[in-house]
Amino acid sequence: MKYIFVTGGVVSSLGKGLTAASLGTLLEARSLRVVLQKFDPYLNVDPGTMNPFQHGEVYVLNDGAETDLDLGHYERFTNCVLTRHNNLTSGQVYETVILKERRGDYLGKTVQVIPHVTDVIKDRIRKLSDESKYDVVITEIGGTTGDIEGLPFIEAIRQFILEVGPENVVNMHVTLVPYIKAAHELKTKPTQQSVAKLREIGLQPQVLICRSEKPLDGDVRRKLSMFCNVAEKAVIEERDVEHTIYEVPLTLHAEGLDQLVCDLLHLETPKPDLKDWQKFVDCVVSPSNRVKIAVVGKYMDVRDAYKSIYESLTHAAASEDCGIDLELIDAESLADGVDDQLKDVAGVLIPGGFGVRGAEGKINATRYARERGIPFLGLCLGMQVATIEFARNVCGLKDANSTEFDKDTPDPVISLLEEQRGVRKKGASMRLGTWPTKIVPGTLAEKIYGDTEVTERHRHRYEFNMKYRDRMDAKGFVISGTSPDGTLAELIELRDHPYFVGCQYHPEFQSKPNKPHPLFKGFIAAALAYQVGGEKRGRTIEQTPISVSDEELVLQR
Ligand code: GLN
Repeated sequence: MKYIFVTGGVVSSLGKGLTAASLGTLLEARSLRVVLQKFDPYLNVDPGTMNPFQHGEVYVLNDGAETDLDLGHYERFTNCVLTRHNNLTSGQVYETVILKERRGDYLGKTVQVIPHVTDVIKDRIRKLSDESKYDVVITEIGGTTGDIEGLPFIEAIRQFILEVGPENVVNMHVTLVPYIKAAHELKTKPTQQSVAKLREIGLQPQVLICRSEKPLDGDVRRKLSMFCNVAEKAVIEERDVEHTIYEVPLTLHAEGLDQLVCDLLHLETPKPDLKDWQKFVDCVVSPSNRVKIAVVGKYMDVRDAYKSIYESLTHAAASEDCGIDLELIDAESLADGVDDQLKDVAGVLIPGGFGVRGAEGKINATRYARERGIPFLGLCLGMQVATIEFARNVCGLKDANSTEFDKDTPDPVISLLEEQRGVRKKGASMRLGTWPTKIVPGTLAEKIYGDTEVTERHRHRYEFNMKYRDRMDAKGFVISGTSPDGTLAELIELRDHPYFVGCQYHPEFQSKPNKPHPLFKGFIAAALAYQVGGEKRGRTIEQTPISVSDEELVLQR
C-alpha cells in the first residue's frame, strides 16, 4: 500500500482538495486504484451543523454522512465512492478518545495527545488501507501548516511514515508563491517558511505544488528546491486555471506530477490515458452553444454554498455541447414578485435549503417558470417550493405552505411525517443518505432516467403530504416517483409543461464529468430547446407525460 499526504501552507483556499483530487484522477488514469480521505482539524464533529456562509456546501455521502465539500471533488474526480470513514475531524478524534477513556479502555493511564490522539488518527489511515481494494491512499489535511489544531495530525503522519517506511509515502505540500507587482517578482519566502514549519515538526515534503498567478522560472524553481530541500523536478507549478477546474489534472500532468509521484513510490504503471478527460475539458472550454440559467437561492455571494449544483450544471452542459451563463439571483430580491430579473433565462433552478428566508421569492420564481413554460428544476427545498406554488396558484389553496415556514398553515402540503400522521410531538430527524426511488412508468421522469428504479442521496426532514396528491394530480401535478412502498413522494413533474421537475433528493451529489446526472442533462437539453424555440417550441420530449393512474401510486394509509 502506498500513501500520499497533502498538506497546505501559507494561506487557506489554495485548492488543496482540488489538487489532491486531480492527483487521484491522474493515478486512476494510470490504472491505479485510488481512495481519498480528508482530515479536518476543526472541533466540530461533522460539518452538518456549519453555516454554508462560512463553510460552503455540506456534501452528503451514500451512507448519509454530512461531510466537507472537498469530498465532492474526490467523488467527481475519481471513481471512489466514499463513506463516513473518509472524513475525520478533530471533533470525532477527541470524541473517540474521551469515550474510550470513560469506558476505561486506557486502564488508568494518563490520556494524552501523543500517543492516544495520534493513535486514533493513525488507525483511521490504516482502516482505509485495504490492499484488496486500493493501491494508493491520498490523505488531505485541512487547514494551514502552523495551525494549532492541525498539529496532532502532522505528528500522527510523522509516526505513520516511520511505521510503513518512507519508500511507501509521498508528502506533498501545496503552497502559495505570490507575485509582487511592484517588484515584478514571484516571492519564495512564504513557502520557505511554511516548509521550515513542517520540518520543525518532523515532516519533509518531497513535492511542492506551487500555486501562483505567473509561471515559475528556473531561478524561482532552483531557489524553492534549495531552501525547501525538495528536488528541482519536484517543484510543480500549479497556475490558476484559465477556464475550468477540470483543467487542473491536465496542467499537473504537463508538469510531470503523476510520473514523479509514481517514481517516488516505486510504482510501475502505464502512461495515463487522459483522452476522455481532455475531451470533456474541450467541451467545457469551447462549446458551440450557450444557455442562461438562473439559480434562485439564498447564498448567492458564496460560490461554495452550491458547489455541487454548479458542477452538475457544468457536466450536463458539456454533454450537450453548451456553456452556461449563470445568473445567480438572491431569492429575497424576488419577494414581491418577478419583474425583469428572469426576463431572458432559459432555465430556472431552485436549490435545497433550510428556513423561511427567501421562500416567497423562490415561490414567485417558480410561478414565473411554470406559467411561461421555462424549464424548471427544483432540488429538495426546490421541489417543496414547487408544490406550495402549485397548490396556491393552481389548486386555489391560497394559504398552502410547508410547516417549516408556517406551523399553522391550513393546508400543509409539505409537512413532517409525524404531523401527517397526527402526531403532536415532532422533532423529526433528517432523512439522510441513499434511498431508492420507484419511478412511475410513462412519466417524463422515466424518460429522463431511462429506468424505473434509481437510488439518490437525501438530506431533508419535510415531505410532500400525500393527502393532497389526488387534488394536485387532477390539475396536472404528477408524482412521478415515490419511495418503494409508495408512501413518500420523491419526484414531481407537471403534465403540461416541457420540463418542470422537482425531486426530494439531491441529484447534484451524483453527477460527474462525462457522466452527467440525467435530471441535469434533461434540464439543460430542455433549456437549449427553449432558447431556440421560445416557450411554444420548448418541448424536448415528444410526448406529454400521461396522467398517472391510481394503481401505480400506492395510497398512503
Ligand atoms: N428544509 C427542507 C427540509 O428539511 C429542505 C431541505 C433541503 O433542501 N436539503 O425538508
